[in-house]
Amino acid sequence: MDKYKYDIVVIGGGVAGVSAAIAAAEMGAKTALIEKDGWLGGMPVGAYVIAMCGYYNGHLGKEKVIRGNFEKIANRAIKMGFAEGTKWNKRCKPSEAREITIDPEGFKHVLDKMVFEAKIDLYLRAFVFSADLVADKIHDITVAGKQGAHFIMAHTFIDCTGDADTAEWLGLTTMYPLVDGPVTMSIRLGGVDKVKLPKTDKEHPAPEIKFDGGIYELHKDRLPVFGWMDIKDERNQYFDCLSIVGTQGLNCCELTYAEVRGRELAHEAVKILAKKYPAYKNAYLLSTGPLLGSRKPRMVITQYYLTDEDLDQNPYDSIAIAGDVMHDHGAMKIPFRCLLPKRIKNLLYAGRTFTPMYHPESKRQEQNKKRNMLAYEIPRLIGCCTATGEAAGVAAALCADNGIDTDQLQISTLHNRLLSRGAIF
Ligand SMILES: Cc1cc2nc3c(=O)[nH]c(=O)nc-3n(C[C@H](O)[C@H](O)[C@H](O)COP(=O)(O)OP(=O)(O)OC[C@H]3O[C@@H](n4cnc5c(N)ncnc54)[C@H](O)[C@@H]3O)c2cc1C
Repeated sequence: MDKYKYDIVVIGGGVAGVSAAIAAAEMGAKTALIEKDGWLGGMPVGAYVIAMCGYYNGHLGKEKVIRGNFEKIANRAIKMGFAEGTKWNKRCKPSEAREITIDPEGFKHVLDKMVFEAKIDLYLRAFVFSADLVADKIHDITVAGKQGAHFIMAHTFIDCTGDADTAEWLGLTTMYPLVDGPVTMSIRLGGVDKVKLPKTDKEHPAPEIKFDGGIYELHKDRLPVFGWMDIKDERNQYFDCLSIVGTQGLNCCELTYAEVRGRELAHEAVKILAKKYPAYKNAYLLSTGPLLGSRKPRMVITQYYLTDEDLDQNPYDSIAIAGDVMHDHGAMKIPFRCLLPKRIKNLLYAGRTFTPMYHPESKRQEQNKKRNMLAYEIPRLIGCCTATGEAAGVAAALCADNGIDTDQLQISTLHNRLLSRGAIF
């Protein structure tokens, strides 16, 4: 049974989970990383969100706000030839790069290598589906694999499932946005004539979608507007925007509907593009994303609820910074309390799981909708997800090492470790 006993267990191997596991293992903790799919990377790899951004602040991106594991992963991917720095989806000098564009297939290999070098016990094709509590702590989680179900124990658990799966099983307060955050099916096209590609959105009309006070109103399933460059072959393009309306993708029936409808849309999209735009005359579908895209279907209410009033504030327990890449409103420091659930003493949340737009207990939902747009969006960019993952990994390792609960951790100790790793500066 000791084989399945760890200091730290990280659930979910997206960027947040990989970053959390690497940080914990580098701190000397016996660490397991458990992922339901057969590869690591989550959205950037499986849903073709290939432009990793949010590590600079501001529209012109003058100020770097995230380093640490994000930089380590990005540099490694660049060195191995599976990523390059780009700006607004175009090739540029490394010093001008404001996003890291990856080759998703190569990125899997990069993350495999980094995880094995950090001596993390990796479980792929392992679906975590429940957690057993003893008093206010998780005693073990149950994992389904080809061999059946088995238990894994740890001192501290980190939920990086993106959908806050543990919150559902543990009965924590969660929030399901009704209209925003639809499930998306991503596609990769071949045979695109880059020279004939429209230069502006006007030439390549936007889909039927309204942006009203920050909420997407989807009237019908949308088709691609413009794609991301493929760093390996410029005749190929990635699109992330086939939204599948009417599903949150949080149970088997919804996911099945989204997969089938998404593929139907993908084939339809290729036909429409070929008919409408000369650049796509000979385009064909290379692949659909192996993972449905999902921005924020279910989120957990943690000990701190972030709002836009947190812009440019300096909380005492800040552990990461979310850069506002689209505007110049300012940066948002993420308090450690955002990672701490309300009841459970040996669990942390990292990545895109915390701070929904509406606080479920708030009576002023309409005001919140307008007030919380940035708080809702920017911590979910890949840069910040990697940073909250790293902070969770370091915090969990400190808790395991000192035999303490997550809310007993001294913030100064956490800060010192994050400083020495270059994760905060
Ligand atoms: C369409 C779209 C466009 C986006 N555009 C951008 C962009 O341009 N730039 C940017 O920086 N960000 C963008 N984002 C946001 C960004 O991709 C995500 O917020 C980020 O990748 C989330 O990382 P994560 O590790 O928190 O979660 P995820 O990437 O969702 O990873 C979660 C992992 O957990 C695994 N998992 C889930 N449940 C379980 C379970 N029960 N047991 C075991 N494993 C489990 C999943 O398989 C997955 O690998 C976009 C997102 C979407 C969907």
